[in-house]
Amino acid sequence: MLLRLMGGRVIDPAHGRDGIGDVWIRDDRVVEAPSDSLRADTSYDVTGKVVMAGAIDIHSHIAGVSVNTARLLMPEHHGASQRRPDVTPLANAGWTTAATGRLYASMGFTTVIEPAVAPHYALHAHLELADIPIIDKATLAILGNDDFLLGLLRAGEGGAAIRDYVAWTLATSRALGIKVVNAGGVAAFKSNVREFSLDDVVPWYGVTSRQIMKALQHAVRDLGVPHPLHVHCNNLGLAGSAETALATIDAAEDLPLHLAHLQFYGYGKEGGRGFSSAGARIAEAVNRAKHVTIDVGQVMFGQTVTISSDVLRQFNARPHARPKKWAIVDGEANGFGIVPYEYRATDFYNAIQWAVGLELFLLINDPWRVFFTTDHPNGAPFTSYPEILALLMDRNLRAQWIGKLPADAMALTTLPSIAREYTLTEVATMTRAAPAKLLGLSDRGHLGPGARADIAVYADQTDKADMFRGATLVFKDGRLVVRDGEVIDQSFGQALVVSVERDRSIDRRLGDYYERRYGLTTDLLAVPESAIGKPDPFELVPCVS
Ligand SMILES: [Zn+2]
Repeated sequence: MLLRLMGGRVIDPAHGRDGIGDVWIRDDRVVEAPSDSLRADTSYDVTGKVVMAGAIDIHSHIAGVSVNTARLLMPEHHGASQRRPDVTPLANAGWTTAATGRLYASMGFTTVIEPAVAPHYALHAHLELADIPIIDKATLAILGNDDFLLGLLRAGEGGAAIRDYVAWTLATSRALGIKVVNAGGVAAFKSNVREFSLDDVVPWYGVTSRQIMKALQHAVRDLGVPHPLHVHCNNLGLAGSAETALATIDAAEDLPLHLAHLQFYGYGKEGGRGFSSAGARIAEAVNRAKHVTIDVGQVMFGQTVTISSDVLRQFNARPHARPKKWAIVDGEANGFGIVPYEYRATDFYNAIQWAVGLELFLLINDPWRVFFTTDHPNGAPFTSYPEILALLMDRNLRAQWIGKLPADAMALTTLPSIAREYTLTEVATMTRAAPAKLLGLSDRGHLGPGARADIAVYADQTDKADMFRGATLVFKDGRLVVRDGEVIDQSFGQALVVSVERDRSIDRRLGDYYERRYGLTTDLLAVPESAIGKPDPFELVPCVS
């Protein structure tokens, strides 16, 4: 099957392309324009439209036991609009798996990363991801508060043992990368610790947060995992957390490091309330640290629910729950906490948070190193993406919002003075080309020959929120799945899994450890292909040498 997208404005930053032209698709791949004698089986006239690769979200909590607990905690979010006929316990929950895939696809997103899967819950997460239609997905496995790793560090074992353990975790839980959440802080919480910073020591293990993070950063790098260690820093959300962010950026040294939802660490202690924006300072530090990438975790106003494996932080956040209910679940290594929250435009602190995210987007110069997220659903649901893109592309729209927000809050940020407006090429870089590169997905995020035919076509409108809310056409693997913002067809994508080598003696060692510690076999952690119940559920992503 040969398809032709004809006469659109093709924006493909990976190939420096921004101009009127065609994109050709044969089956599931983008191909060179064929010789004149060949005619397309189907042509789509996309004159006046913008053509980009499918978008990639690198950090969105869409599946797993914590997400399901949030669904159970918030029955009032279960809308009739998302009702489906199957009578299962969560069949009518808001944000069903079906709705997640369809809503993402309608905005032109074709790959989404679930960034926080505890290895013990990996099978559940993969079963749920496999039930999300259209999009491809992947997981990041969480390490850094687990007894086995902290035990290796306490015993002073070398890098080889840690590398093998990381490789075993990636293989067993079928992950694309490794995330660390409040390294050591969550373990310390079990000893009643309520505050934990980069150089604090985890009780019992005698190692610092910094040592844990550096050990994992080196292991991930040395194994050739394309995605750098994905770090949720200590002290999330606190006044003065900017100091933690700056210290963590420094700690990256000359190795790649990704800092997740940096907005939540962009707070200083200035002003009458001891809470101010440090967005400009942090953006400057990121601009200087060429090995550091970040995603923003933008806050938008409205009701949401926060979901995090940072049990220490979520426990401390309980008093702010709105509505007044929460769930904290502890477990081996990272448990999780669910705290509903409403960001209000009239609230001084929430207004600062909103501004900090935009400052990071607008003051970090390189769109290849700043990634587009709300940390769904922590800063806002992913359905707010079109409104955020509009704010980035239109300073007048920002000025209107700034005018409505508490003036004392805006006086403590640099946002009102920032004139930058994102171009469509910068948007395509940040949401397509850069995330594909960051994750090691060479056939995504671009429109060159050989690329997977994941393509989004948008009407080129002045109202950018409208433009990005519903794509005119979306192709997934060459198949037309969205027309005029409506899903018209769906298949099921794959989970992307990195393939790395390990010394198999670690398998025996972990087998002994689980037997001795829990009386369990490590088979319980495995994600067998046969369990998924769909053909070809996994796609292997090669490591880098
Ligand atoms: Zn997150």
